[in-house]
Amino acid sequence: MKIVFGCLNHEANSFASDPGTWERWFRTNFVAVGDELLAYRDKKGAHLAGMFSAAEEEGVELIPAIFGAGAAPVLTREALDRGVGIICDVIRRHPDADGLCFCLHGAGIAEGIDDIETYTMRKMREAAGRKIPIAISCDLHANIKAEMLEEADAGVFGMKQYPHIDKFETGHLAMQTLIRKIRGEEDPVTAFCPLPLLIPCSVANTLRPPMKIFPDHMAEYCRTHGLIDVTFFNGFPYADTEYTGASVVVVGHRGQDVQAMANELGRWVWAHRHLTDIELLDAEAAWDKAEEAARLYGNYVLIHEASDNPGGGSPGDGTGMLREMLRRNEPGTIFGYIFDREILEKAKAAGVGGHVSGLLGGKTGTLCGAPVPIENAEVLALSDGVGIYLTPNKVGQKVDYQGLARLRIGNAEVIVSGTCANQTYDDRPFALTGADIQDYRIVVIKSATHFRAWFQDRAKAIITANTPGTTTEDFSLFPYQKLRRPIYPLDPGMEFEA
Ligand SMILES: [Zn+2]
Repeated sequence: MKIVFGCLNHEANSFASDPGTWERWFRTNFVAVGDELLAYRDKKGAHLAGMFSAAEEEGVELIPAIFGAGAAPVLTREALDRGVGIICDVIRRHPDADGLCFCLHGAGIAEGIDDIETYTMRKMREAAGRKIPIAISCDLHANIKAEMLEEADAGVFGMKQYPHIDKFETGHLAMQTLIRKIRGEEDPVTAFCPLPLLIPCSVANTLRPPMKIFPDHMAEYCRTHGLIDVTFFNGFPYADTEYTGASVVVVGHRGQDVQAMANELGRWVWAHRHLTDIELLDAEAAWDKAEEAARLYGNYVLIHEASDNPGGGSPGDGTGMLREMLRRNEPGTIFGYIFDREILEKAKAAGVGGHVSGLLGGKTGTLCGAPVPIENAEVLALSDGVGIYLTPNKVGQKVDYQGLARLRIGNAEVIVSGTCANQTYDDRPFALTGADIQDYRIVVIKSATHFRAWFQDRAKAIITANTPGTTTEDFSLFPYQKLRRPIYPLDPGMEFEA
């Protein structure tokens, strides 16, 4: 048996204003093609590693196509078709393949295509020239559509945890179910219950209550009902489509009434929707709260600026928290990091001990605040910005910030990076610039929830900041065009019946 496999993930932020080119799509990640995917076999934090593992257990031959993933603005057609084209070429070169197993995010958009996952699966089938079976593993933030379920006839499988520490298990189950379908040992049926519910990313931490009850309940239901898989998808609120929102997907065995089960679970989620309500703190309120926590608990208190989260397609150079930090001008405070290639180049030219002046951040989007003037900031450290992640959801994977500079601006310290190498997952930007995070009272980063996999048990307290930004959790600030209404929490009094 031969299976073509890979990953082509796009998480669309409809409100990011820079163009969704190929380079922007993968700015936060690496693209691997063909045999380069073999490097993912041992990366336990990846869907592909789970797919490898299931295929090896079953003695199935794998044909690697592509690995590419990133949150970005709406893609150009050129960027999408380049990625899909690579997959289709591989499929055409292997007409004897028995199935297709792909990690497709579930919240991707390209110009004129609001559902790039269905588009991709249809193109793959065209390339195969027949109804070859497809299984997909999706992100917890997928906006699920009926068409996706129809195309993925070997099942739609989702991550259950946020931070996404269960990619391996998701990829493994998708591959395993596909193999069983091809062998005639399994005939999966999939149904979903879409919910009119937008979930703020920063409340959705499944490591702790209250959100932990969602995956726990789904897992228990899956076990007691003898299903193959149950996922509560949070959806991705920054992708503006008619499909946007949370959903429950049930994958069962032929003959099981999966639609009734999905509806039952949808009603359960709806009854618990208030657990996703969020308290929105602006920069000043977040800083006040952090000060108080730092007085009580000591080093260090973490502020995460969820509203400019590069992991959600935001540019990572937003200045909401930065401006407040510099206004407070307190020693023992550090920002890790702000994306600004221009200031980084100036720092490199000045060298360690030199000084830089100019405008910091606020250069790539209109929603993330204006640039902040800095004058005679001292360059404390420089780094090539290349390291290996420690966080459990990326452990062992390479990170390349394309240069880092640690600056002292007044009394505060700010790390500037040469690329927006995704959100801050762990202490790498600090360590690479010689800063020991334990030496600081208040640490500021840009991330919604993934940072918790590493920081949750290390920071003395964690404060969520909602400054204006491309991933703000005040959804009323976005000019939605296609979002279905009514939807919670924008229409708080609405009723829903599955
Ligand atoms: Zn996600």
